[in-house]
Amino acid sequence: MYKLMTAGPTRVAKNVMEYRSMEFVNPDTDISFCEFYKDTCNLISELLYTKNETIILGGEGILALESACATLTEQGDRVLVLDNGIFGEGFKDFVTMYGGTPYLYTKDYKNALDIEELKSFLQKDNDFKYATIVHCDTPSGVLNDIESICNLLSEYGIISVVDAVSSMFGEYINIDKCKADLVCGASQKVVSAPPGLAFVTISDKAKDIINKRKTPIASFYANLKVFENYYENKWFPYTMPVSDIMGLSRALQNIKEDKNILQRHSEVASYTRQTLEEIGYKLYLESGFSNTVSSIEVPKNLTADYIIKTILEKHNILICNSLGVFKDKVVRIGHMGENANINDVTIVLNALKELMIG
Ligand SMILES: *Cc1c(COP(=O)(O)O)cnc(C)c1O
Repeated sequence: MYKLMTAGPTRVAKNVMEYRSMEFVNPDTDISFCEFYKDTCNLISELLYTKNETIILGGEGILALESACATLTEQGDRVLVLDNGIFGEGFKDFVTMYGGTPYLYTKDYKNALDIEELKSFLQKDNDFKYATIVHCDTPSGVLNDIESICNLLSEYGIISVVDAVSSMFGEYINIDKCKADLVCGASQKVVSAPPGLAFVTISDKAKDIINKRKTPIASFYANLKVFENYYENKWFPYTMPVSDIMGLSRALQNIKEDKNILQRHSEVASYTRQTLEEIGYKLYLESGFSNTVSSIEVPKNLTADYIIKTILEKHNILICNSLGVFKDKVVRIGHMGENANINDVTIVLNALKELMIG
């Protein structure tokens, strides 16, 4: 088996695999599951420094984004879609699908969003029910300052939906300080559990807005409200993927016990970027470098496929291409979660150096 150094899914620790394979209770009938589920949700909130409630959903990361939009959007709602990357732009589809009218605020894809520029924009136009923003837009790795952005949005009473799927726990996130309303995460990035689970942390302000809806939510599965009072009623809207949640719980414990996790992500990321430049690669971004993924431009004499294939065949490590407009132009190294360690990135960087020398 090759070593995964992609921008998610990431490698999974042995103890997480073990927890996933343990015997499990019937999640529909055994009350102990309800306690375990709630404890796991609470642990996510705790690791994000908030008392806001977290809901774990049975589905891959995208379900978190779609559920947030489905639960908030009513016919004709104006939604500000902050777009400086592929996931950023992608939110417009969920907004439209549930009857909203997206306003695309599109900025260049090589830089983090400029806060002053956004401030001036909002002074002129701020009639939005909610806004969507991606913390780390993984196809380029650009990291946006969600603390400034969400605080700014909240000054205008605009609810924020934050996609923190590939940043959460690799970058510092304090939800209360950010005043972020719906924060989306998933199992397969920094968390380092297999793909299959999504989760959303919801503020009371957002719950209030959701409770004031005039029309029903146009989905059952992508609907955060169906979890309302699950704990009091000891009832889940569907059979929860208990083994996946057991693995997630262990992975979150690993994060909690790893006091050095943010520092390590930061060091590995700086080392990766510095070395990439030293050996002659051009970083794709100009600003907004994340600690979880690095992206390089494909050099003129090489192709993305050749780089990825050679590193896999010669060194047994898998790095990845990008998506959408970046496909074949950008190659990415994921250094998040279990992959965020100097030894593994050094092997990738040595391999990339060899390619450059030819
Ligand atoms: C990985 C990821 C998701 C989840 O989407 P998949 O590509 O289906 O795994 C959502 N948002 C971001 C920013 C991600 O990196």
